[in-house]
Amino acid sequence: MKQLATLLLAVLCHSASASYLPKDISSPKNIIMIIGDGMGPSYTTAYRMYADDPNTPEVESTVFDRLLVGMASTHPDMNTGYVTDSAASATALATGVKTYNGAIGVDANKKVVQSVLELAKEQGRKTGIAVTSQINHATPASFGAHNESRQNYDQIADSYFDEKINGKFVLDVMLGGGWKYFIREDRNLVEQFKDAGYQYVDELTELDAVKVGTPLLGLFADSGMPWALDSVNQMRLATLTKAAIRQLENEQGYFLLIEASQIDWAGHGNDIGSAMAEMHDLAVTLEWLEQYLTKKPDTLLIATADHSTGGLSIGANGNYSWSPKWLKNLKASPAEIGAQLVTAKNRGALATDLLGFELTPEEISSLSVIESEKPRPLHNAISKILDSRSNTGWTTSGHTGVDVQIFAKGSGSERFRGHLDNTAVAQTVFELLRGQ
Ligand code: MG
Ligand code: ZN
Repeated sequence: MKQLATLLLAVLCHSASASYLPKDISSPKNIIMIIGDGMGPSYTTAYRMYADDPNTPEVESTVFDRLLVGMASTHPDMNTGYVTDSAASATALATGVKTYNGAIGVDANKKVVQSVLELAKEQGRKTGIAVTSQINHATPASFGAHNESRQNYDQIADSYFDEKINGKFVLDVMLGGGWKYFIREDRNLVEQFKDAGYQYVDELTELDAVKVGTPLLGLFADSGMPWALDSVNQMRLATLTKAAIRQLENEQGYFLLIEASQIDWAGHGNDIGSAMAEMHDLAVTLEWLEQYLTKKPDTLLIATADHSTGGLSIGANGNYSWSPKWLKNLKASPAEIGAQLVTAKNRGALATDLLGFELTPEEISSLSVIESEKPRPLHNAISKILDSRSNTGWTTSGHTGVDVQIFAKGSGSERFRGHLDNTAVAQTVFELLRGQ
C-alpha cells in the first residue's frame, strides 16, 4: 500500500513537473510571418478550385489546406467600426494593439507601439520585409515604422532610414516596390542606404548575385510591383522570399515579414483573374517555405490575412457552376488588357488573344461600344467577361469584416489553433520571441 502510494505520488509529481516546465516551448530561432492582404476564406477556396486538376475525380488540397490551424477576427478599434483597413489590421498583427483605420504602428491615441519585428531586432535578430506592394505601404509599414497615417508615404520611407533600434537600422532586408518614395527630389534614400553599407538592386534577376548575409535594399517598381500576370517572373514573391532568407540567415535568427500585397488590389478591382494569379504566387511561396521548414525545424511559419476584400463569391446569380478554367490562359492582367485595348484596331481579336479564349459576338460588342480614351472602362469590361464566364460574384469594391484563416507550421505553430483575435496572433508571436 505504501509502495503504491509512493508510486502514485511519483507519477503525479512527474506529470505535474512536466506540465509546469517553465521553458517548455523555447523561442523559435527564425520567425516568418506572412500576410495575404485581402485573402479571406473565399480566396483560398477559389484557389483550390482554380488549382484543381479537372482530370481527377477529387478536388486536390492545397498548401493552404495543409497549413490551416485556425481563424482570426479582424475588427479594428471599436470607434472605427467592425470592418478594418490594412493599416489597422497590420498594426494589430504587428503589435497586438487595436487601433483606428489608417494607423501605422500607433494605438488609438496615436501613441507608438512596438512591433514584433522591432522586438526581434532589439533581441539581436536580423529583420526583413519582402512584399509586392511598395515597401512603405500600410502592411509592411506597420511592422517597421510608426505614423499616424498610412498616407504619409514619404515620412514612412524616411523613417526606415532615420529610426534606429540600439543604433541599428530597423530593417536589414527590404524587398518590394517604391522608387518614387525612395528616390525623390528632396531626398534620395537609396543613396543614403548605399552609403550606409546596403547593397542596392533594382532588377529581380540581380538578386542571385548579391553578397549573401549583407544588408540589402531591392526596389523593383515605382510603387507596387507589376501584377503577377504582367510580370516576366510571375513567381516574384517566391523569388523575393528566397532572396530575403538568404540575406537574413544567421546565428541569432531572424524575423521576416512577407506580404502578398496585391490579392487585396485584385479584390478592390473585382478582378478574379489577377486574384488567382496573385494567390498562385503566394501558394508557390508557401510550398517552398513548407520545404524550407523541414530543413529548419527551429523556424516558425505563421500566415494569415488582414481582412477579406471584394466580397468574392464562388458562384453568382444562382448559377452553381463556378468555372475557373476561363482564368487559366490569361496572357496579361485585365488592367493591362484594358490598357492595350484603348488603341487596338480590332479589340475582339486582341482580347481573344490575351484572354486565351474565343469571345462571343456579345462579349466583343461589350468592348467595342466603349468610347473612353481611358483604360479603366475597358479593364472593367474585361473583368465582367471573366466574371460572367466563371460565375464569380462580388459585393463591394472595399473590404469585408469576415474572419480570416490562420496558417502555421514549425516551432510554436500549435499556439495558433482555434479562434484568435488578430491582436492575439501578435501577442503569441511576442511570447514566442521572449521564449514564454
Ligand atoms: Mg497590404
Ligand atoms: Zn484593401
